[in-house]
Amino acid sequence: MVATPDTLLEALTPEQREVVLHEKGPLLVIAGPGAGKTEVMLRRAAYLVCERGVEPEALLLTTFTRKAAEELRLRLARFLGRDVERVFISTIHGFCQWVLENYPQVHPYGRYFQVLDEDAQYLLILSHLENLGLGRGKGRVGDHVEAAIAAFNAYSEECVDPARLLEVLRASGAGDEEIAMAEAYRRYLALLVAERAIDFGGLQREAYRVLREDAAVREAVQRRFRYLIVDEHQDTNPIQDRILGLVAAPEYNLCVVGDDDQSIYRFRGATVRNFLDVPATYPNTRTIVLSRNFRSTAPIVELTGRLIAHNPVRYRKALVAHRGTGPEILLLTAEDVDDEGERLADLIDDLRRSQVIRGWRNVAVLFTSVRYFAGPLLAALAKRRIPCEVTGDGGFFDRPDVRQLKDLVIALGWPSYWRTTMLHGPVLGLAPETLTILEQYEGNLWELDEAGMYTLGIVDERDRRVLAQMIALHRRVQAKEYASITGLVHEILAITGYLANRLRAGDDAAVLNVAQFTRLATNFDRHGRSRSTFHFGEYLWSLPERSLDERRPPLDDAVQVMTIHQSKGLEFPVVIVPSVVEGRLPKHARHGTVTYRVPDELAPLVMPPEIATRRQPAEDDPHLADQRRLFYVAMTRARDLVILSVPERIRKQRCKPSRFLAEMGLELKELPIPSYRIDGSERRALGTPRAHLTFSAINAYLTCPLRYRLLYEDGLSVPTWYFVQFGTSLHRTLEAIHRRALAGEPVDEPAALALFEQCWVPFGPRSVEAEQRLEETGRGYIARYVREHAASFPRVRRAELTFSYDAGDALLSGRVDLVREAEGGGLEIVDFKTRAHGGLEITNARLQVELYALACENLLDDEVRRLTVHLLADGETLDFPWDPQARQHVRDTLDEVITGIAERQFAPKPGPHCRACDFRRLCPYGDRAAPARPAEA
Ligand code: SF4
Repeated sequence: MVATPDTLLEALTPEQREVVLHEKGPLLVIAGPGAGKTEVMLRRAAYLVCERGVEPEALLLTTFTRKAAEELRLRLARFLGRDVERVFISTIHGFCQWVLENYPQVHPYGRYFQVLDEDAQYLLILSHLENLGLGRGKGRVGDHVEAAIAAFNAYSEECVDPARLLEVLRASGAGDEEIAMAEAYRRYLALLVAERAIDFGGLQREAYRVLREDAAVREAVQRRFRYLIVDEHQDTNPIQDRILGLVAAPEYNLCVVGDDDQSIYRFRGATVRNFLDVPATYPNTRTIVLSRNFRSTAPIVELTGRLIAHNPVRYRKALVAHRGTGPEILLLTAEDVDDEGERLADLIDDLRRSQVIRGWRNVAVLFTSVRYFAGPLLAALAKRRIPCEVTGDGGFFDRPDVRQLKDLVIALGWPSYWRTTMLHGPVLGLAPETLTILEQYEGNLWELDEAGMYTLGIVDERDRRVLAQMIALHRRVQAKEYASITGLVHEILAITGYLANRLRAGDDAAVLNVAQFTRLATNFDRHGRSRSTFHFGEYLWSLPERSLDERRPPLDDAVQVMTIHQSKGLEFPVVIVPSVVEGRLPKHARHGTVTYRVPDELAPLVMPPEIATRRQPAEDDPHLADQRRLFYVAMTRARDLVILSVPERIRKQRCKPSRFLAEMGLELKELPIPSYRIDGSERRALGTPRAHLTFSAINAYLTCPLRYRLLYEDGLSVPTWYFVQFGTSLHRTLEAIHRRALAGEPVDEPAALALFEQCWVPFGPRSVEAEQRLEETGRGYIARYVREHAASFPRVRRAELTFSYDAGDALLSGRVDLVREAEGGGLEIVDFKTRAHGGLEITNARLQVELYALACENLLDDEVRRLTVHLLADGETLDFPWDPQARQHVRDTLDEVITGIAERQFAPKPGPHCRACDFRRLCPYGDRAAPARPAEA
């Protein structure tokens, strides 16, 4: 522990101090924008540990994203030092997963299950639409999948029993569609159990069920977590709220932090009512309002306060601007949206010229939809050469290279299908003469050979070579001689040299987007239950166009353009909200979509009697209240200046200024640019962004910085999923063996093999042979390990120890396979490798265990004495010393890597190791450094 009571209370407002000092019982912290809630929350956590003697293990901190959880951990480490590792900081899903993993006997998924993220759930449902009885119906297949996800999540989050749901729907004369969806849900749950998989909704449903129905488990969890701090509580959904309530009982040392006025995720199932009902739910709740706004100037705080006061159901709060006065909110009128774009671009230019802002990055333009509404402004900014960084515009599938990659992969799966359109594009890069010839060709492209191409008049040698190799690849695909879609994408990139070209040309945008395409392919390989190019195409077609942004390299200084939702958690000196008119802000409510609602008689299943009191009245017009909150969130991102614009017409139709302007008392009159200087600091996310490194990333950088960049900065996927799953299965089994050993239970060979069966991650129906082969291999590894090393089991101290190590400008995180007592005292760090000697993975195994030793010494009380790498494939072990010299060496190496990454030094380091690099044929240097062997050519 490194904090003292004085440091924890330093520079706090009286209200913030009260939050930190609150002793026991429910605490509601209502924190307006810029109120410093994260700092206060963390100081409270630290105060509980440092001053009130609460064990760090008794603290549970929840937030909404893994990244936010990591940042909370880092910031809390400032106060708690290494004790921070003992605090449970997680998303609510992560906490639910912990409950299920720790109490496997009370739910049907067992200790080892696969958690399906949103992409994996999407692909599972897409691949089973028929089996689920939903069919593909009319319209876009993705809409059916999304409807199913929405319905399944709603059923899960209300803990609806599918048989009962069907019964109730049939009895109530529900329509065929609703009954079909309920039946699909029943089948979907059975499918998940069969696959030992669970989605996010299921994690919550099962954790809630276990906590509610199993008193022993509930009490054990309650004994462990005696103090809860919940961040962004206004964005919880009903089941999350109930889970937190169950864990907090019976003492209810529950501190919920949030802002009802910033609840903008109703479309995801969040309900602000959880937050509004806290005092009714927990009768002795103490309420503290953090009313000082440290972010915005007085005019912004005052006007946004006037706006949000029109929401009828909310906590009333009088926020005060800590920073004092500033410029008035600027209004700008325009004839139509094109004129609005021009005028806003001129205004941004003027702000820079008149030195109100110091850089383009000081300005953020926030839209309700960038894809649909930002066009005129982006065109106007481009005309003036004002750089901008755009997120939320979709646009990924509009790129010519992405379109061509998609067309090519799909066409490879068809025996005789090809279109000339698929030949146009930068990936193949065919000469115009070649394209003209092929456009007139009436035969089957896939049956051409090089001589045939020559006869047709294709004289460009490179074109003939590329086409011949594509035709050979087509033959292999037709003969099913390929392992994965990601592998096919790599093949296309290798044949055409597209990625190598773009790397040579310094075209970072192309590299980033190709990388994003490989990630879609890998996602499909992992979760698509098929390796058919047709099914991959269906997956891509099913994705809503707007769902993926074109990726762009970050710019040093650019106007930020994004959606209001994306701006949450950020702040900017100047915020512009365009088109503040009726129909856009607020937008019209959508009617007529089929929703699969949970019948009223089933919904109370989720309401435990002790927390069923609901006192707040319902909002008359929840849509309008949502829109008002959205506008409030947009404007409160601003530190110094808000600019709103109001066009008179949209697509030739006259429109009215938004009612929100009148609610704020704003008149439609334009003011001059203020004579005001913005201090120049830019947006701030939670914590300072820094590199997040794992050993694999460090190893990649040391091997070749370009390899690191492609893998970790650009995100280029590699087709290795069999081995990833194989490795996961083995590591899970070893963890299970070591946990048993830790619990003092004997583990012999049959018991270990039984664990292996439980821990095996299925490969899916398309890889039966590979799966059988690797399963047999894995069994052999485990049997030998137990035979030869059972004597060391009593020395096991930790299994799969997760750590994060603050390395200054980077955060190092990882999992140590095994920590055991070394013979002769101290600790031994053991890392298991599924491969034998050789290969990239092994060359730096020593560095890996050294890094782990460094992190463990920081985390555990004992000294590390021995480092071991255990090669499962041949049963060998490699031992390394851990002495002051090794310690210094690993620190220096870490510094070297962190500096290189921070300075973006990604020069290639070609050499013999290129042979084992997945990018050997894709990068400009690999093939030359390690030419293909005759068998590979
Ligand atoms: S092939 Fe060689 S040069 Fe290219 S990224 Fe891989 S290791 Fe680096």
